[in-house]
Amino acid sequence: MESAISPFLHQALDRLGVSDEMRHLMITPYREVKFGLPLVCHEGGLKLYTGFRVQHNHSRGPFKGGLRFHPDVDLAHFRDLASVMTWKCALVDIPFGGAKGGINCNPHELNSSELEVLTKRFVDRLDEMLGPDRDIPAPDMGTSPREMAWIMEAHSKDHGYEPGIVTGKPIQLGGSPGRLAATGRGVALVTCWACENLGIEVQGARIAIQGFGNVGSHAAKFLHDFGAKVVAISNRQSGFYQGHGLDIPGIIKSRNESDDDLTLQQIDFSAEEISNEELLALDVDILIPAAVEATIHQDNVDQLRTRLIVEAANLPVTAEADATLQERGIPVIPDLLANAGGVTVSYLEWVQNRQRYSWKESEVNNKLESTLHNAWKQLTESAESTGSSRREAAYTIGTRRVKEAIELRGF
Ligand code: NAD
Repeated sequence: MESAISPFLHQALDRLGVSDEMRHLMITPYREVKFGLPLVCHEGGLKLYTGFRVQHNHSRGPFKGGLRFHPDVDLAHFRDLASVMTWKCALVDIPFGGAKGGINCNPHELNSSELEVLTKRFVDRLDEMLGPDRDIPAPDMGTSPREMAWIMEAHSKDHGYEPGIVTGKPIQLGGSPGRLAATGRGVALVTCWACENLGIEVQGARIAIQGFGNVGSHAAKFLHDFGAKVVAISNRQSGFYQGHGLDIPGIIKSRNESDDDLTLQQIDFSAEEISNEELLALDVDILIPAAVEATIHQDNVDQLRTRLIVEAANLPVTAEADATLQERGIPVIPDLLANAGGVTVSYLEWVQNRQRYSWKESEVNNKLESTLHNAWKQLTESAESTGSSRREAAYTIGTRRVKEAIELRGF
């Protein structure tokens, strides 16, 4: 698989003027592992899954990155996502490096006890690679606070009580208030700042969101609270459109109650069922891809009719599509900033865990907002002063900080 991040990264390293050796060092993961994970299923048969962890860079702090449970993942996938984490943490200036990992399973096809066995076995296999000062997992697609609790338990068997081993935990186990909603909250805040910058009125803005999981649904909720009209949402099966705006609080409530993926019954019978491709091509003010990578690519980018794209997912726009969007004058708020709310509050959770102390949710939310706003200001100033895109500015700031850390620490 061709690397999705590599064109963005190479351009940033060109702008920094790094040597070939430094380029190689900054691109190459520190360590990557791939291992078999056997599971005896509840029907009795044996299944073999594959676990992955890529630790990309830890010059600025311990490796940090989510765990994805999805049937289509592979090492190349995680290599890109781990690299994204390195530049993201550097851009928002929190003392973490980048990592990513997961299991090639479909969590919707496994029951809770099977998932618990797989998750704990995953931790067993990684063993000493994980730790609060080494590598700290968090939720990503297909995982949630439940899996984080299992990770904490599995790690404690050999290492004792250490809540800082994992973030995005249930509150009862030392999770931070505000963490569950943090990525979506960050997406909504960044969207508001971008709208202000671009002269788009948030009140009444028509928004389409692809993916209605943790990130997409929280982003929808906050943007709805800010007065925007979320006209379309989708999940892996289908999408739903309602021109006068969907009842986002009602949809979230019924989805949470049924603990199920979206169905038309939960949405609004007057809504129109649309495909994910149709959602991307809707005539809206803001398009928020909040699902998987590469959803906006060279074959569909010309159909887009939005005024602004906010990347809630990681790497949702390919490099070719990004170039076309620049030519078409459609601004993109890059994933490195747009979805950094999650890792920012993960950092705040880790700090609370290390201090054995917890803060009020309002304090966490204020710290989240000021961290993201500082990064937004630096990114905007850099883009405006150099005439570069916001993505180019984000990569330039992130890579410069990591390069400085590598040089200061020596080789
Ligand atoms: P999730 O598993 O909670 O939800 C994913 C959603 O996307 C679901 O609604 C699912 O049905 C939908 N989906 C999956 N495949 C799809 C497809 N091919 N087309 C359309 N929809 C599809 O995951 P999440 O935690 O909300 O993560 C979403 C994205 O945000 C991922 O790219 C993830 O890396 C990124 N992200 C998540 C966090 C976090 O804190 N959870 C932080 C930063 C970035």
